[in-house]
Amino acid sequence: MTAEQREAVFVPSVLTADGVLEGLGIYSTEAKALEVLRDTLRERIAEGLKEAQLVLWELDAADSEAIPLKHMLANLCPVCRQRTFWTDAIEMSALCYLSSCQAWIEDSDIEEDRVDCGWPPIGFTSQSESLAEALSVLRIYGAKIRGSGELAPAEEAEEMLQHFETGQSDPTSIREP
Ligand SMILES: [Zn+2]
Repeated sequence: MTAEQREAVFVPSVLTADGVLEGLGIYSTEAKALEVLRDTLRERIAEGLKEAQLVLWELDAADSEAIPLKHMLANLCPVCRQRTFWTDAIEMSALCYLSSCQAWIEDSDIEEDRVDCGWPPIGFTSQSESLAEALSVLRIYGAKIRGSGELAPAEEAEEMLQHFETGQSDPTSIREP
């Protein structure tokens, strides 16, 4: 942050199962806002929240527009099959908030153009070349764990990929002051 930069606030919100947009407060740091958002997703897991967002607003700026930092959707988890797999279109990451599952997908920090995924309960991790491949690894893995040999439907993976793609085309860069 530079001294000339305008002050900003961070506003998390969720969309309930009934389609009501609920604000979760206004925070001076991104870390605190994110913590509140994540705690909410965890604590209200049974409610079936549909979407979650975190936006940044600049203060004292008439031309200020909300800048999206996170746009998360609750998808069916490819491993545990609950609608607790929160995918973030902006950061290209996903995490199952069910504490017994916690399946995840993330861009690799070490290698570019690689996507990591995993299932913490037994320390399973895998590296893929694309998001589609990572999702399919988790689907196959999920079928094995459930012991049914039945894959999560491909349409769900398609839906998730579409969400990632549309999210990426959003104007997410912070404007020059
Ligand atoms: Zn899960």
